[in-house]
Amino acid sequence: MKSKFIFITGGVLSSLGKGIVAASLGLLLEGKGLKIALMKLDPYLNVDPGTMNPFQHGEIYVTDDGAETDLDLGHYYRFTNSPLSKISNSTSGQIYDEVLKKERAGEYLGKTVQVIPHITDVIKNRIIACSNQKSDIDVTIIEIGGTVGDIESQPFLEAIRQFRHEHLGDSINIHLTYVPYIEHADEVKTKPTQHSVQQLQRSGIFPDMILCRCKESLSKEIKEKISLFCSVPIERVIDVIDVKNTVYEVPILLQKAGFDISISELLDIKKQKSNLQKLEKFVADLISTKKTINIGFIGKYLQHKDAYKSIFESLTHAGIVNGVLINIIGIDSEKITDEDNFSKAVSQCHGILVPGGFGERGLEGKVTAAKFCREHNVPYFGICLGMQVMVIEFARNVLNLHKANTTEIDPLTKYKVISLLSEQKNVKNIGGSMRLGAYKCNIDVSSLSYKAYGKHQISERHRHRYEFNNEYKKLYEEHGLKVVGTNNDNNEELCEIIENINHQWMVGVQFHPEFKSKPTDPHPLFISFIKAIVSNEKKNCRRD
Ligand code: GLN
Repeated sequence: MKSKFIFITGGVLSSLGKGIVAASLGLLLEGKGLKIALMKLDPYLNVDPGTMNPFQHGEIYVTDDGAETDLDLGHYYRFTNSPLSKISNSTSGQIYDEVLKKERAGEYLGKTVQVIPHITDVIKNRIIACSNQKSDIDVTIIEIGGTVGDIESQPFLEAIRQFRHEHLGDSINIHLTYVPYIEHADEVKTKPTQHSVQQLQRSGIFPDMILCRCKESLSKEIKEKISLFCSVPIERVIDVIDVKNTVYEVPILLQKAGFDISISELLDIKKQKSNLQKLEKFVADLISTKKTINIGFIGKYLQHKDAYKSIFESLTHAGIVNGVLINIIGIDSEKITDEDNFSKAVSQCHGILVPGGFGERGLEGKVTAAKFCREHNVPYFGICLGMQVMVIEFARNVLNLHKANTTEIDPLTKYKVISLLSEQKNVKNIGGSMRLGAYKCNIDVSSLSYKAYGKHQISERHRHRYEFNNEYKKLYEEHGLKVVGTNNDNNEELCEIIENINHQWMVGVQFHPEFKSKPTDPHPLFISFIKAIVSNEKKNCRRD
């Protein structure tokens, strides 16, 4: 089958869930036996979101090949089997950079370099490259970040217009809008949708289908109105109702609303109903799960609900296999001043997770939390900085290495238990220069981690500059903190996993397991963490 292309644009406002819709569409197509590739085009000028503050951008999702990408790629991973790599996320920054480098190299042979055709050509080439990354991709789904009408999106919309013209019959546009319910008028309003479709039409793009994000399902009259004003057949005006329990209901709801049939007709692809069995089972299990456990989550970007997206999702996935829902109790690391105040915060938690992070702010609070969890046998999962904190705490309070620290925070500390990776020593630029992407890790058979993964060698994704200092390895191991996972690719050994062998479940990992958990395939370490808590609950033997 010749590859087809689906463009997804958004109107009216941001945060309508375009990423979830794109991922759901991917899953629906996979459910018909098709191979898909998903791609996100971001109109901002940063080369990638890696240099942005989590408040600005939410989580940075890392791919195997070390791209720091938009968090929507996390949705793509969790919903589908789309290949995900550098080519799956392009920003205006990357596109302009590519054009300007070519210009400096003289590749435009004296021409004036312009948005059309030079920028739009690069955009189109990248779409093609994404669909060509594997030979068997049937459908490429391209999500355009931002909202139509934004100045930044213009070159992307123009590129889509051209692309559709060049691939007539093989490409369609789905436009996601918002249909608000206005309480004082007791009415659902279609005007914002009409206006955003007009915006899109002004760019020469005529949507083939309109998805309407709404609170309740839309009446026939409302759909007729949207259909008439936006020139889209009524069966292609589809409502995307706010889900009650979980985002994983979205593909199921879209299928019920006729989305998958309409797509098949539009693209002339397999008509059979998509098989969503595995996801349906996950959703049914989630809905029927009643028991809840509390996980204390120690971070500094807690107000931003997307800053730790993949970790929250991974906890949910692992909870369901263990028969529990996860209630996250956010504990602001900057507010942890001493053990007393932490013990109050933690009293209602069954386990503690310390995620990744950067910089000094909140670090001491995390160290206090690690000390409390170690001393009180509270299950503790440390991810990246959360692992480094475990190492720092152990040095200070067990090994008596006074003021031991990471050189990220205190470069002059006498005890550099976490120090800069040697490969980082000559790095000058901060963008895209961390140890990024997938690396192998060899696991010790006697460890909890081995039990969780059930294999000697794993591969996990990374995003860090600092690392456990092996000079202290022997001392740590003599006192019960064991390096149980290492990377041995180069001459030096890098610590990837540590475990406190005198604790029921205190595991720290230098990598980010959260990037590889799916509802239908939860991550082994998250499963093991929740399992330890659940079996504690059964024994009712948590020691406080
Ligand atoms: N700041 C630490 C480092 O760079 C941890 C990074 C992280 O948690 N992602 O090593």
